[in-house]
Formats: sequence, C-alpha cells, structure tokens
Amino acid sequence: MPGGGIGAAPALAEKLGKLGLVRGDDLVLHLPLRYEDETRCFAIAEAPPGEPVQVEARVVDVAVQFRPRRQLVARVRDAAGDELALRFLNFYGSQTKQLEGARDDGRPLRLFGEIRQGFLGPEMVHPRYRVVDAAAPLPTALTPVYPTTAGVSQTALRKLIGAALADADLGEPFAADAGWLERHGLAGFADAVRYLHHPPPGAPLAALQSRDHPAWRRIKFDEALAQQLSLRRAFLARRERGAPVLAAAGELGRQLLGRLPFALTGAQRRVVAEIERDLVQPFPMQRLLQGDVGSGKTIVAALAACRAIEAGWQAAFMAPTEILAEQHYLKLKSWLEPLGVRVAWLSGSLKSAAKKAMQAEAAAGAQLVVGTHALIQDAVDFARLGLAIVDEQHRFGVQQRLALRRKGSGAVPHQLMMSATPIPRTLAMSYYADLDVSVLDELPPGRTPVKTKLIADARRDEVIAAVRAAVAEGRQAYWVCPLIEESEKLQLQTALETHAVLSEELAGLSVGLVHGRLKADEKAATMAAFAAGKIDVLVATTVIEVGVDVPNASLMVIEHAERFGLSQLHQLRGRVGRGAHESVCALLYSGPLSEMARARLKIVFENTDGFAIAREDLRLRGPGEFIGSRQSGVPLLRYADLEADADLVELARGMAERLLADDPAGVARHLERWLGSREELLKA
Ligand code: ADP
Ligand code: MG
Repeated sequence: MPGGGIGAAPALAEKLGKLGLVRGDDLVLHLPLRYEDETRCFAIAEAPPGEPVQVEARVVDVAVQFRPRRQLVARVRDAAGDELALRFLNFYGSQTKQLEGARDDGRPLRLFGEIRQGFLGPEMVHPRYRVVDAAAPLPTALTPVYPTTAGVSQTALRKLIGAALADADLGEPFAADAGWLERHGLAGFADAVRYLHHPPPGAPLAALQSRDHPAWRRIKFDEALAQQLSLRRAFLARRERGAPVLAAAGELGRQLLGRLPFALTGAQRRVVAEIERDLVQPFPMQRLLQGDVGSGKTIVAALAACRAIEAGWQAAFMAPTEILAEQHYLKLKSWLEPLGVRVAWLSGSLKSAAKKAMQAEAAAGAQLVVGTHALIQDAVDFARLGLAIVDEQHRFGVQQRLALRRKGSGAVPHQLMMSATPIPRTLAMSYYADLDVSVLDELPPGRTPVKTKLIADARRDEVIAAVRAAVAEGRQAYWVCPLIEESEKLQLQTALETHAVLSEELAGLSVGLVHGRLKADEKAATMAAFAAGKIDVLVATTVIEVGVDVPNASLMVIEHAERFGLSQLHQLRGRVGRGAHESVCALLYSGPLSEMARARLKIVFENTDGFAIAREDLRLRGPGEFIGSRQSGVPLLRYADLEADADLVELARGMAERLLADDPAGVARHLERWLGSREELLKA
C-alpha cells in the first residue's frame, strides 16, 4: 500500500492526522523517541535504582489506602522473595479487581518503571504493567516508544507502524551504491527504518539512541535531501518563467553615484555587480542581500532600481514599517528625482483619495514606487514591474513576499530581498537554499564602533546623566521602552509612562515619543523632527528597530534589554554609530537575571558582528524559533540538526543537484515519501 491510507478507524485516523500520520509512508517515518528494554527482568534486589527496568513478580496484597490521600497500593514479591510496593494515585475500580485477580490465581505481573526507595522499602509509582502467564516468553527486541498524542496508545501506534513497514515500499529512492553509503556512514533505507522501529535482538540501547548510528544518519540524510530537493526544485521552476531582461547602459546609476558624498565600498561594488549580472538574465533573480546593520544596503537597492528604470521598467521597494518605508521614500526621492525619476509613495495610512491617486500613479508608471505592504494590495496594479525589492525581508511572511512578485503583469519581476538579520551558514544552506545570496561583509569606512554597556537598572541615574552629557555635546539619544509582547495595550501604556517620566527626569531637553499606535503622519512628523535635531531624546518602542537612520544620534538606551531578542538588540544598537561620533549603547536590565538571560546579554555585549550574534542566538534557541513561524513554507527538519548534522545537509545538497539533473523519477519518489501531500502546499 505505498503512499496509501493507513486503514485506521475514522476517530483514530483523525487523531493520527494531527500527528501528521496520513499515509503508510508517514508511519514508516514516524520514528521512536526512545526505547525501553523489556528483553530481560531484574530481580528486585538487583535492579539499578532510578532507571527504567522490568521486574516480574506476583501480587501478594492489594489495598486501597486513604492516607495521605486515596491511592491503590499493591505489594508484589519476586522469585527471590524480595518485595516491592506499587502505588497508583489515579486508578480505576477495574484495576483493583485485576490486581486482586492476579493475586488469587497466582499469575505474575511484568512491571516496567523506576524503583525508588520509599518510606517502607522499595516502590514503583505508576508502573506500566501486564498480567502474563507464568513463563511467558520475553520480547527479544527493545520496545520503541513513539511520539504520540492523547487517545493514540503506544500499542496502537506499534501495530499500525508494524503493518505499514510490511506494506510500504521501502526501496531505495535513488541509485546509491553500497560503497558510497558506507563511505558516508549511512545505512540502506529499508535497513535503517526496520532497525529503528524494530531493533534486532541484542541491539545495544546506547547505539540505538545515539543519533550517530548509520540508521539514524540515513534518516537524517534522507530528510535533509527531501528538503533540498523541494527547495531546489522550486528554485528551478521559477527559472522556467520569463523575466524582463533589464539591459541598460548604466548611465542612471553612474549619475547617482556621481552625486553621492561617498564612494561605494568594495563589498558594495561586488554585490552591485552580482545583481546586475542577474538582471540581464531572461529568468527572475531571486537574490537575498545580507548585510549587517549599517553596511549600506539601501544604495545597492537604489542602483538596482536604476537599472530597471533605465531599461524602461518600474521598480517597487517594500519595507515592513511605515517609518522605515517613509524614510526610504524620502531618501530615494532625494537621490533620484534630481535625475528625472518619478518616485511615488504608497502606504496603508494614506487617505483614500490620495491612495487612489497613488495607485493610479503606480499603474500609470511611476518609475519607482516605495511603500509598506500596501504595495501588495489587490488595488495596486503595476504597469511594468521589472524589479521588486523587499527590505528587512525576514519581517514579511512568505505569502507577502510572493504577492509582490505576482504584481508583475505577464513577466515575473526580478526580486531582491534584503536582511540585516544574518542567516548563519547552516541555515542559509537549508532553509534558504532556494535563494542566491550576496553578502555585504564590509562596513563603510569612518565608523567608530559602538560601545556596549550592561547596566543594572538600579543605576538609571548614571544613564540619565549620560543622556544629558550627550545632548550637551550636540548629540541625540534614543530611549527604547521595555518590550511587552503579550499586550499591545500594555506596551502603549508603558511607552506613555516612560515618556512622562523621562520628560521630568530630563527637564529642559526636548523629549519626543513614537510608538506603533500613532497615526502615520504623526509618526512621520516626529521622525522628521528627530532627524532635523529638533528633538533631543526620542522615546520609542521597537517601531524604530529596523532601518532608521539618524547619524547624529550617538546614544541608545534600551530598557529591560533582557526581554528582547538578540538580533533585535543588535538592530537597535545599529541605530547609533552611524556618524563619526563615539556612540554608546546602554543595555539596562533588571536583575536578578536568569542564567540564560545573562548568557544572552553577554553575547550582544561581546559581539559587534551580527553574524556571530545570529549564530549564537541560533545555538541557544534552535532553528525553529530563529526562523520563526513567518518563514514557514519550507519543510522543517524533524530529525536532522542543522548544526550537528551540517555534514549531512551538505552531502544532501550535492545529492539533490545530482538527482535533479539525472534522476527525475528518483526525485519524485523521494519527495513523495517524505513530503507527500505537503509538497503541493509548499509549491503554492
Ligand atoms: P543598512 O544596510 O543598515 O540598510 P543603510 O543603507 O541605511 O544601511 O546605510 C547606512 C548609512 O551609511 C547611510 O547613512 C548611508 O547613506 C551610508 N552609506 C552607505 N554606503 C556608504 C559608503 N560606501 N560610504 C559611506 N557611507 C555609506
Ligand atoms: Mg536598511
């Protein structure tokens, strides 16, 4: 029954569905969490304490006790004559009867649990047990324990999985010769799943549980291979679709560069060249531009837009927040309008008449349209979209990014995604395997590194004094309010309170406030006043986290830094150190900190490199959280670990390339086995 249903009753099937178990193949790949050793019985006196063990013993006494609380207590005795108490705090009347029955007819119990030294001698609390016939044979193999959910017993799972193993096609999905497998420490597929589900008699527990075993390595390799195949296939499928060839002499870009007060860094020049090579291809660019905070991604994007515009196409530039989008709009307009480029602005907060006008403008062919996710709304129709740029791409969901690409009329636009949240190599290799990646690994010259200080909030006075000192020197400061993720209302209240308190503590200075609930024009006015130096201290929520660029600000204070994500702290810190002045980032924390919180703040304190921070963050939190639910759309790895199994992911990547080139049937078989119906969803 390859890929077929699993023949469970509807109620059970529904519960299995929640575990992702729909087809025989799903069951085959539903691997044990751990094993229990029921192949031997210990004498009570010899069982190692505190470890799961099996014991065979006969019931000598059964009683329901009421002190200290109602419980069923049975005493059992093994062949050597040693006794053990069994305690059940939750029990059914039928259980009492069953144990009494065993006491009366002398049939032994096989008990599984941990023996502890209780008040009255050794005891097991809530052991798993079965009444057996005397001399019933012991299992010869270890017993698998599966991940499960309420209402699906281990016994039921074992039975279903056993049947699936017998029915499913366990053939090799691709031609892999035994030598190759062995060289890489991989078992054959059928051997691997049979071994892991039904360990052979005598298989040592340690070897089985070690995920270095060739059986486990094979599973992890296959899983990574499915992920690579699915990503690479999507990537190649996109190449099939035509994109506008954005060939231009490059005059517009040269003019822009000529007017800038700075020259591009080597890294910027390299990345611009990488992008320009893509733009003249007849298939859409899918490029992720990674560059640490302040590495100068905006000008790179502007130069790409110049190419599209000069070739007679439109470019769209989407940013995740209103503040950031508006800032980009103002900057791009100041760069490009003098060169005769029509730049339009589109945000959700525009009044409807203005919005209609802008939508018409986008349709009629403004050459560059900058905005928030308002750009991807249905009412916006681009006449000739040639390039879609997404800033801070990790802040958007997959669907939103795809939606912008669909705005091309006919041709698929080229896509440039930018992110300052660097993706560690192992993640880039798997979750982002469908993208080409460019990296800005050089900061513009003349920056003084930001000094980071960890300060207990009991020393707030010193921080206030530092703010005054900075302002006295003509600088400006950000003061970021504590993050309250659970409640937007509380977050707002905190921002208002922080602003009120600081206005008093910093009497005589001009203290501004921005938060997510302000109207867009209020936000914009405040940001403009801050940029113009009319506000000394800007109290802000994380709305300023991304992209905001005010070079005169030299002090960043973050309250309750322990509540923020590490990359978020790094982003916030990147708001200062943008000018020539010595800048400071003060991370205020309220103690005592947990060990984890301390370790996390230390990472930000010790590292100035966003890549290093992201790597450490990944190590502490694991990839699932790092990527976040927003990025889902890529099959997550259940078994392989990106860090520990980097060699397997790498190997899988090579194999994926090879299979896609020479073995389409193998590709289809493998994807069907691992992703089955989910594959369809992923393509959408
Ligand atoms: P990010 O990569 O964080 O988006 P930005 O594009 O906002 O960085 O650039 C940060 C600042 O550096 C901006 O003020 C920008 O004008 C400036 N900048 C960009 N490239 C250079 C360069 N090559 N030399 C000097 N300053 C630069
Ligand atoms: Mg930016």
